[in-house]
Amino acid sequence: MSPKRSAGARKSSANSKRKNYRRIATEEAFSIPEQMEAQRELVGSAKEYDPDLFLWNIQTDPKGPVHNKLLDLFDMRLQEMDKYGVDVHLLALTSTGVQMMDADRAAEVATIGNDRLHDAIQRHPDRFAGLATIPVQDPPRAIKEIDRAITRLKLNGIMINSHTNGEYLSERKYWPILEAIEGHKVPLYIHPRSPIPLMAKAYRTDHLEHAIWGYQAETGLHALRIITGGVLDQFPKLQIVLGHMGEGIPYWLYRLDFMHGRVRIGFDRPKLKLTPSEYVKRNYFITTSGMNWDPTLRFCIEVLGADRIMWAIDYPYQDHVDAVEFMDAAEISGKDKQKIYHENAERVFKLRRS
Ligand code: MN
Repeated sequence: MSPKRSAGARKSSANSKRKNYRRIATEEAFSIPEQMEAQRELVGSAKEYDPDLFLWNIQTDPKGPVHNKLLDLFDMRLQEMDKYGVDVHLLALTSTGVQMMDADRAAEVATIGNDRLHDAIQRHPDRFAGLATIPVQDPPRAIKEIDRAITRLKLNGIMINSHTNGEYLSERKYWPILEAIEGHKVPLYIHPRSPIPLMAKAYRTDHLEHAIWGYQAETGLHALRIITGGVLDQFPKLQIVLGHMGEGIPYWLYRLDFMHGRVRIGFDRPKLKLTPSEYVKRNYFITTSGMNWDPTLRFCIEVLGADRIMWAIDYPYQDHVDAVEFMDAAEISGKDKQKIYHENAERVFKLRRS
């Protein structure tokens, strides 16, 4: 079969299933020239290897594989979505957002990014929704931008790309940010970036510090520290979304509960009201981004329930076709597939129904 015919066959199979499911993709990246420029400057001034700037060096290259796709919202992207029957992209500024910039630049680029996202959604309200970017490194300004992005721009949640300058959201100086997000009753998507420098060093051999393993190790640790740091006793209604089938957390629930429950003399962990797995089932959602794999999906449905799982592609880093074919063919009930393809996303991100 020629590539052309194969694409045509995919298209018709995707379209024929549109009657059953709205396909809402919940972790889709875009960029703006202002973010590209700030990151290009950081790449240019870097004195030593930085795993995220290593990737930004590729992303900011106009001849590279993702540069044009990241900057495009209305051409290639909508064509791809139409071709594979994808109804909605829930967009967010690509990782690392503004978290590597100095606080002033971060606040400036976040504001522009959120305005641009708002405009895109106004232009295509049935095709786009979005998560706001905030200058995490400056909590008072971050809170102002959360208020503006949710109240005025009507964005659908907040995205934070794991650590900021090596620090996690479980540290108390960031709690006001979490309080503001909880107060607005919108979800916080914790998206990966490369591990903090201390951890990244151990992954350098064979370049394991990126999406192959390091992202998951970094973001899984971040999600876990929010639990073990007692953050979710302070903010019991906070809802956090993790990509990549939960960044390894669902697989580890038994051992987290078992080990956390043991009395350890000399351990100064905060006392928690619930077991780690109870927080995961109460406060976390996961998405299928970049993990187009049936056994993991069925496992996650069994441990977390289909109500806590949403579909995602991870465009432009991964392709529409793989994510659509995976979910269309997944051997799960039709009811669960509806929840994962669209119902949960509509509820969690308060998306308008077309
Ligand atoms: Mn992603």
